[in-house]
Amino acid sequence: MPTIETVLGPIDDAALGFTLSHEHVLVAMGEDNHHYPWLFDWERTRANTVRELSEAKAGGVDTIIDLTTPDLGRDVEFVRDVASDSGVNIVAATGIWRDVPRSFWERGIDRIADIFVREIETGIGETGIKAGVIKVANDAEGVTPQAERVLRGAARALKRTGCPISTHQWAPTIVGARQVEIFVDEGAPTDRICIGHSADTTDVAYLESLLETGVYLSMDRYPGAEGRPDWRERNATVKALVDRGWAHRLMLGHDYAPAPISARHRGDVAATEPTRYLFLSTVALPALRDDGVNAETIDLMMREVPRRFLTGG
Ligand SMILES: [Zn+2]
Repeated sequence: MPTIETVLGPIDDAALGFTLSHEHVLVAMGEDNHHYPWLFDWERTRANTVRELSEAKAGGVDTIIDLTTPDLGRDVEFVRDVASDSGVNIVAATGIWRDVPRSFWERGIDRIADIFVREIETGIGETGIKAGVIKVANDAEGVTPQAERVLRGAARALKRTGCPISTHQWAPTIVGARQVEIFVDEGAPTDRICIGHSADTTDVAYLESLLETGVYLSMDRYPGAEGRPDWRERNATVKALVDRGWAHRLMLGHDYAPAPISARHRGDVAATEPTRYLFLSTVALPALRDDGVNAETIDLMMREVPRRFLTGG
């Protein structure tokens, strides 16, 4: 049986279950959580995160792929604790998001790969928690020279370890196409790569051109945001791809993270807000069913495709 690395150690792939493709558990841009921990109320942050994850678990979410990198304030010990308290399997990421650290600007590409490989094979810091996925990110700025080094390092780490890559792209300007070009140039296997935030566009021809290279797509960022496709448009794009025979390459998610609670926050946070980890389960997936995507296809996208992506099997 293939195993999958989670923050609580390896699990049998049969235990993966219903899986969200692109989420976060704790995000602090610029690592404020590490450097200015006194800005946050950790007791309430932890309690609220456990509440939301427990709600997700009770609502049928078994596993979350947490694509939080060091430049997003990654804290795998926090994640391990809330995974343990909630019962949700959480896969942690190595890699780098959009804020490529200065130290990476000059570092050799193989030395970048060494860092990712260390986090995949030995663990993150001294925690022993192994990364199960490599995250990279390019937004509206395109693939900058610094970010290209990270992409090439990720491709080499994938080739050395078999650990899959999951990206953040800015889909409206087809940034994912450039990501694929670089991965292919490095000789990385496209069937171990997922191009993320792909539901930020409704351009089915573009998405199909990506799929034709052999990659997976993460159709995430449900329920959408101001100026981007709303959840119904995201569903329509997913359905168009399903109708064209691509369900076996699609995964779904929210790109959601419960916000860390500020130390200055007054009032009760942990009481009412229903978690957004359940938007797909409670709203978008039932609507997809009503639109004629059958239960078997939804299971394929929510269970079997993430399993294949994470294990390569
Ligand atoms: Zn994200």
